[in-house]
Amino acid sequence: MDTETPIKEVIEEIKEFGGDAVKYCYQCGKCDTVCPWNKVINFSIRKLIREATFGIPEIELEEVWRCTTCGKCPQECPRDVKQIDDVVAMRRIAAEYGVSSTLLKPVRSASASLAAEGNPFVQERSKRRDWTNGYNVKTFSEEMEILYFPCCYVSYDQRLMEIARATVTILQKAEVDFGILGTEENCCGESIRKTGNEEVYKDLARENIKTFIDHGVKRILVSSPHCYETFVNEYPEFKASFEIVHITQYLLELINEGRIQINKEYPKKVTYHDPCYLGRHNGIYEEPREILKSIPGLKFAELPDSHKDSLCCGMGGGRIWIDTKMPERFSNLRMEQAIELKSEVLVTACPYCIDALEESRSGLNYEDKILVKDITEILQEVI
Ligand code: SF4
Ligand code: SF4
Repeated sequence: MDTETPIKEVIEEIKEFGGDAVKYCYQCGKCDTVCPWNKVINFSIRKLIREATFGIPEIELEEVWRCTTCGKCPQECPRDVKQIDDVVAMRRIAAEYGVSSTLLKPVRSASASLAAEGNPFVQERSKRRDWTNGYNVKTFSEEMEILYFPCCYVSYDQRLMEIARATVTILQKAEVDFGILGTEENCCGESIRKTGNEEVYKDLARENIKTFIDHGVKRILVSSPHCYETFVNEYPEFKASFEIVHITQYLLELINEGRIQINKEYPKKVTYHDPCYLGRHNGIYEEPREILKSIPGLKFAELPDSHKDSLCCGMGGGRIWIDTKMPERFSNLRMEQAIELKSEVLVTACPYCIDALEESRSGLNYEDKILVKDITEILQEVI
């Protein structure tokens, strides 16, 4: 591909995204020292930023698609260079210029499916609420307490729909008056936006916002930190304002209000993996820990690389659709850390993380040694 043509646009687009800060980069390399890619391969975000400063990032190479938008390097950068905005801007240019490679085939398929069916799996919209079969879940109406927005992965993936079912079981036990939007729900659009596909993101966001307003939604409960991120930090660009709660916040609220009674023990050694979009991007660290520590019998152990230093699972930034070679998966390193701690259960609070960690658990043959669970799956067992 000819890299001459887009030079001007690259610089303009990067500026448009607040990436004007690229010019402040003084090449200290701190970003590279914290980037999780450097635990598995050689990758330099510093080099990409350098190329962007000159308007010559090689947008046709995999390097531009590596960043998982984990948020680790921006928090370390002494010059406040917005690396994630810069990378997304480069991807927007690549999308605009139709850069094609086998690597991006699944992203294109996800994008087409999101535009047609509101989910990235090439699955029919009519099947979006099939996970509720046998669970008596109502459609949301205005007088209800809260809207539950499960997300695409939790609605369609057989393993991940266990998260939605556990959530519903808990909400029903706590007598929460809630409903879902079912076939009217669309992907929140967070991941497709990170791949540079702004138009599909905007269409999904506008449609969701219209549906929320039409149904009189005020408070929204989400399972995925990626939905949380986009509803809290990105939908306000459309002047839309709703109260968003992540399930970890809501469960703690229900426990503190006495609406959930924990009455069983969970006598296992448990550790918690901080999802990037819950922790680093949104500062929710303590709620999941408080919930776990309130369960009798549960022995809590902290992983290395926790809280703001959490190790990314590898699935953010659209990487959930891009195949990562087995030896390059960060989730393998996370799994090894949990095994090292002799944890019996690795708990997290993000469907993307569960997906990555379950794959590592089976890929590394640890099925007999450790379980991977969403926090809702633990709680439903003890109430
Ligand atoms: S940490 Fe910031 S200033 Fe240092 S090389 Fe990376 S982007 Fe540049
Ligand atoms: S955001 Fe995370 S994955 Fe992306 S370059 Fe920075 S440290 Fe690496």
